[in-house]
Amino acid sequence: MHQFSRESKKAGKRIGFVPTMGYLHNGHISLLEKSKSENDISVVSIFVNPSQFGPAEDFSKYPRNLERDKEMLIDAGCDILFYPKADDVYPDDFQTTVQVGKISNILEGKFRPGHFNGVTTIVSILFNCVIPDVAYFGQKDAQQAAVIKQMVKDLKYDIEINVCPIIRETDGLAMSSRNIYLSPEERIEALVLRKSLLLAVELIYAGEKDTSIIKTKMKEMIFLIKSASLDYVEVVEADSFLISSELKAGKQYFILIACKIGTTRLIDNELIIIPF
Ligand code: AMP
Repeated sequence: MHQFSRESKKAGKRIGFVPTMGYLHNGHISLLEKSKSENDISVVSIFVNPSQFGPAEDFSKYPRNLERDKEMLIDAGCDILFYPKADDVYPDDFQTTVQVGKISNILEGKFRPGHFNGVTTIVSILFNCVIPDVAYFGQKDAQQAAVIKQMVKDLKYDIEINVCPIIRETDGLAMSSRNIYLSPEERIEALVLRKSLLLAVELIYAGEKDTSIIKTKMKEMIFLIKSASLDYVEVVEADSFLISSELKAGKQYFILIACKIGTTRLIDNELIIIPF
């Protein structure tokens, strides 16, 4: 990977990079398409990174299908698939962690302790292998993108971070490799994530500025769904990820939700600009 990237750079090529854990869907492909439109070479990595899964999480059963992924990448015109082996990424004597502070410890970081340390460590390794000019992340994982941006800023990586819109199924469910875990009933009930976000948007556009009222109304909707068990709903400033109690005109916020449907943990969010 190093050799390819070095030679491509010498030839004046611009490299775009899309890190993934595979079991690809149109959300991943949208990142690749964005990369293809802006770069000479687009690299997609597939690596199910053990260090970002908690001990009770779904690492071993995380869906994998390399042959199908390869076909999707060829169809979408991907130039390079980087598919490193776990033993090469984490050899026996591996002993380094990349850890971002505050922003890694709230919300997803609180419910999944250690998760973002795993993410920043693997993304750092992948950045050092691929040496991209620009890397593409989905707004689907809004906090992850914010953590990566902080890492890139703090560690002075010469890499642009491009955050791309959430791609959804036609009924509004955010695409996710984990959607495959949902039973047919759960698949319908999972729409409550999106519906509660749309309720929040509606309240905000009707003039509601108090986030505790917005969160309460969202929770009331979620609690009606039998299979749903809520981890959090939160409203944060889009840049800083600071939790907001009152929305201010002209500012941008993420409304975030993390909720289990049955045993499947799903996340979703909405980016909103408060009208003046
Ligand atoms: P993953 O394979 O789940 O680690 O995701 C790899 C990248 O794809 C991350 O930057 C995700 O935010 C992004 N991604 C996942 N789902 C979506 C989606 N529905 N829309 C846009 N990007 C997504």
